[in-house]
Amino acid sequence: MDGALKENDISHVVEADKAHVWHHLTQHKPFETADPRIIVEGKGMRVWDQNGKEYIDAVSGGVWTVNVGYGRESIADVVRDQLVKLNYFAGSAGSIPGAMFSEKLISKMPGMTRVYVTNSGSEANEKAFKMIRQIAHKRYGGKKTKILYRDRDYHGSTLAAMSAGGQDERNMQYGPFAPDFVRVPHCMEYRKDEIGLGHLSGAEFGRAAADLIEEVILREGPDTVGALCLEPITAGGGVIEAPEGYWDRVREICDKHDILLHIDEVVCGLGRTGTWFGYQHYGIQPDFVTMAKGVASGYAAIACCVTTEKVFAMFKDNSDDVLNHFRDISTFGGCTAGPAAALENMRIIEDEGLLENTTKMGERMLGNLKALMDKHEVIGDVRGKGLFLGAELVTDRETKEPVSEKEIAAVVGDCGAQGVIIGASNRSIPGRNNVLCFSPALIVTAEDVDRITDAVDKALTKIFG
Ligand code: PLP
Repeated sequence: MDGALKENDISHVVEADKAHVWHHLTQHKPFETADPRIIVEGKGMRVWDQNGKEYIDAVSGGVWTVNVGYGRESIADVVRDQLVKLNYFAGSAGSIPGAMFSEKLISKMPGMTRVYVTNSGSEANEKAFKMIRQIAHKRYGGKKTKILYRDRDYHGSTLAAMSAGGQDERNMQYGPFAPDFVRVPHCMEYRKDEIGLGHLSGAEFGRAAADLIEEVILREGPDTVGALCLEPITAGGGVIEAPEGYWDRVREICDKHDILLHIDEVVCGLGRTGTWFGYQHYGIQPDFVTMAKGVASGYAAIACCVTTEKVFAMFKDNSDDVLNHFRDISTFGGCTAGPAAALENMRIIEDEGLLENTTKMGERMLGNLKALMDKHEVIGDVRGKGLFLGAELVTDRETKEPVSEKEIAAVVGDCGAQGVIIGASNRSIPGRNNVLCFSPALIVTAEDVDRITDAVDKALTKIFG
């Protein structure tokens, strides 16, 4: 970094922020006595705040986004060139980066063919929900409008996305929600007692956890259920990978009841788990895939809803005057910066071998965190895939009682003081936000991985002894 902002400039920025900025996810009372953190610059894995303090960013921009790291001049260059040539045109026209990015994306998603571009993960999910509802009207006479979602999963902050929200604390004050969204149980092995499957393990547990979804379908009536929406690995709800046997059974259940499978890859998409998409670890074929964060690594706001040709074909049937196409638009879907940045982002992931690095560094980080379990009783479970990992903190390994949110905040704060930014599960279930989250950029080195886990080690020793 060139150095901290000059003292006058810093105080002006901080004053302007405190006077006018409404920060996301933040209670502002503490800013009456302390300054907010303002991130001024980033390069590779590192960011600098307004005081020039350097941090290793182990959460890729706070929320699993900057997959290729900060300061990528080649992305800035292609976006600049594109903006000068054509910044925007929306409606029914296409664009050069739109076509080139869609072709590239589809080349990494066998079985999928169509890309609908939008601006955020929430919006991408809304598009999928609208398509699912339109199919219900077009194909099933207005039946099959129900969309199933899973306990602890999150699909966004807009009202229909929240209607599919499995994290109670994020929803409690914002209802009423849209009708015909129905919750199914989570499939978390570490807390399998909660879903009445404590006596099972391995693939038997996985299949039984999926069977709980079928129970809901049978209760609701299969002819009323249009789709099932799942995260491939639950993110904010606590970094939860589905157990062995789960996904095959999920696809079987969907096929049996003519239900569309929508996978929300907003976090896992574009390499986070070591494959282009999280679902690709499990050999399943989705009908819808939505994605956002890593699509352009935060260099531009772009998200996508991707479908199969079978889904798309239903919207190409023009035998009906009213329902003959997808009646939807997103104004900023016409911004060319998004697909231009996304295409270059994919080139970087491919040319720099970042999927391979993610697998390798993910294993190292998982190993380091598992080793910390021997030293720190407070770590009840360590889990995840690639560079998408979590460590669940409990007061007692037998009862699995979560540590308090204050203690989790203290660990995150202490790591921050040591110059390492880590995350925590995000207000998922009241009193149960007890998972430390790690998702460094896919460029992370062994040295950085060790620095991150060393900081966690020191913080745990300080706070829990
Ligand atoms: N889906 C998942 C799995 C997410 O984690 C998020 C955001 O964290 C979203 C959807 C919503 O994305 P956005 O914040 O871009 O609307």
